[in-house]
Amino acid sequence: PKKQIIVVTPTYNRALQAFYLNRLGQVLRLVPPPILWMVVEMNVASMETAEILRKTGVMYRHIVCTKNSTNVKDRGVHQRNAALEHIEHHKLDGIVYFADDDNIYSLELFKGLREISRFGTWPVAMLAQSKNKAILEGPVCNGSQVIGWHTNEKSKRLRRFHVDMSGFAFNSTILWDPKKWRRPTSAPIQQLDTVKEGFQETTFIEQLVEDESQMEGTPAGCSRIMNWHLHLEARNLVYPRGWLLQKNLDVV
Ligand code: UDP
Repeated sequence: PKKQIIVVTPTYNRALQAFYLNRLGQVLRLVPPPILWMVVEMNVASMETAEILRKTGVMYRHIVCTKNSTNVKDRGVHQRNAALEHIEHHKLDGIVYFADDDNIYSLELFKGLREISRFGTWPVAMLAQSKNKAILEGPVCNGSQVIGWHTNEKSKRLRRFHVDMSGFAFNSTILWDPKKWRRPTSAPIQQLDTVKEGFQETTFIEQLVEDESQMEGTPAGCSRIMNWHLHLEARNLVYPRGWLLQKNLDVV
């Protein structure tokens, strides 16, 4: 049987939310099943999100994270943890991928996820916020072997793994079958809310693998860009004076 893909998407209400969720949903709709879209909201499951999920035709779970969080820097951390807990608790079997709602994904990426056995990673293209240029973050590979990293100036040597949140995926059994993967402890694997900005990914990945030898660069050679992390937000766009954007532009 084909391996299941488990896509975890934290989301929150803002002007472009409906646009983002529709766009991502339409890509996921094109991925051959089995694929499960876990969409996680904070505090309540909104009607608007529920409606979009119903319409996409993708198998989904609409999850609510109730952890109290006042830290604006958390940006989806608790929501991803809620999904991880759900996967662990229900022993869901598949390849877990964190797909934020606002990134752009190619179909090829999702097809490649099924080839991953333990932990797969690939380079992601992004805009460097301060420098007005596109940069890569992710592995440099020899075949599927990871031999180095594209880094950026911000955190050059300090980070163990230079991977974007949308630049890796892993086997869900690492979460609930520690013996199979000879994990040193069976403590739950979680994203931490206490790490410095830019270290969220590496701190998480360090719980999944010991080093590069346990990683699979995908597709072999790691020379393809399959998704883009552009940091575009409604608040930074330029609108004619006096225009007002609603909280959610899902107009029916
Ligand atoms: N997010 C969220 N609540 C927030 C901030 C972010 O659910 O208060 C989600 C957002 O929808 C996205 C992910 O977390 O799926 C990452 O957020 P964002 O794209 O703003 O972070 P960045 O890309 O700048 O790291």
